[in-house]
Amino acid sequence: MIQNVLKKAVIPSANSNAFLSFLGNIQTIKTLVLFLDYDGTLTPIVVFATERPDQAILSNDARQAIKCLSEDLKIAIVSGRTKKDVKSRVDIPDLFYAGSHGFDISGPIKSDEPLTITSGGTEQKVSKAVKENIEWTLETDTSLGGKQYITFQVANNFVPILNQMFEKLSQELGKIKGCILENNIFSLSVHYRLIESELMVSKIEEIIQSIANEQKGMVKVTHGKKVFEIRINLDWHKGKAIMKLLEYWNLTSPDKVFAIFVGDDKTDEDGFKYLLDNSLGVGILVSPQSEERPQIGTTENTNMQDVQIISQPNSTEILSTTFAKYSLKDPSDVLSFLKNLSKIQPTRNDSSQNTVNH
Ligand SMILES: [Mg+2]
Repeated sequence: MIQNVLKKAVIPSANSNAFLSFLGNIQTIKTLVLFLDYDGTLTPIVVFATERPDQAILSNDARQAIKCLSEDLKIAIVSGRTKKDVKSRVDIPDLFYAGSHGFDISGPIKSDEPLTITSGGTEQKVSKAVKENIEWTLETDTSLGGKQYITFQVANNFVPILNQMFEKLSQELGKIKGCILENNIFSLSVHYRLIESELMVSKIEEIIQSIANEQKGMVKVTHGKKVFEIRINLDWHKGKAIMKLLEYWNLTSPDKVFAIFVGDDKTDEDGFKYLLDNSLGVGILVSPQSEERPQIGTTENTNMQDVQIISQPNSTEILSTTFAKYSLKDPSDVLSFLKNLSKIQPTRNDSSQNTVNH
C-alpha cells in the first residue's frame, strides 16, 4: 500500500502566497483552528534541557503574535512538556493547552456556551457540549487567583501509580551521581547523560525495568537520547489530543473546520496524520530539511509504521517521510507564518496590512 502513497515531493512553504490565500478563502466558510507544538516549533530546540533550560524561552514577539491571533482563532498548544511548564512558558492564560503529549488538556471556560457537568459532587456550568463518556472536569489554577479551567486527563488514575514509582526510583537511583530524575506527572524521566561511567547504564535500565515490571503492562519504558522514560501504556498521543479538542469545540466535520497543526518531530506526526486521515486540515512540519523529504500524500488511512526515522548526531530525530503537507524552516519562519495568518484575519485585513511574504 505504501508504495502507492509515498511520493517524492517538495513540501511547499506555509508562507507561500498560495497557501495563505487558500487559508484566507477557507476561513470564510470554515472555522480555522491552530494547534502549535512548543519546543523546536515556537522556540529553538534545547538539546540538553537540564543544562540549558533557559534557551527554550518564547520570544515576546512570538507571544504577541499568538496572543493577537487568539482573538480571532481557537488556538491550542500541544506539547510534550507538562501542561504547567508549557503554560508558564507561553504565558497566555486563555489558550487551550495539551501537555504531556496530550495526556493533560485544559482551557478556558466560556460562559456563553453553557453545559452542566458534575464536578466535586456539584453541578457546574462549563463550556461546550461534549460526548457523554468524556470526563471533562473543572480545574482551579491557584497561580491565577483561583481561576477555573475545563480539563481532560485521559489517564488521571495512573498519576498515583507514577508517583509511587517515582519514589521507588528516587530511592534506588538517587545515590547514583549524575542520574537525574524528573516527575512529569504523566510520565517519569531518568536522565543519565551526566553519570560518571557509561558502565552504569545497563544497571540503571535494569532497575527501571524491574520497577516498571511490577505494574504488569500498565506502563512502558522507552529509551531516548541519554534518557529512559516511563510512560503510560495507553494508545494516546498528540493526534488523540487534537481529536479530543475538536470534539470539545464541536468541530469534527470537515465541512465545519480547517485545522492546522505546526510541529517539528516524530510525536507531531500523530497530529498531522489525524488531520490528514479525517480531512480536517493539514500538518505543517518545521524542519530545515523539509523540502528534501518524501511526503506521504493520501486521503486513505496510513500507518505510523510507514514513517521511517533516521537520526542525526547532536540533533533531534528527523523524519525521512512526513504526513505534513506544508513546511516551515525554523521557529523564526513559524513566527512569520503566525504574523501572516494574523494579516489575513477578516478583522485585520485592512489596506495597510494585506501583503504577505513569499
Ligand atoms: Mg517539538
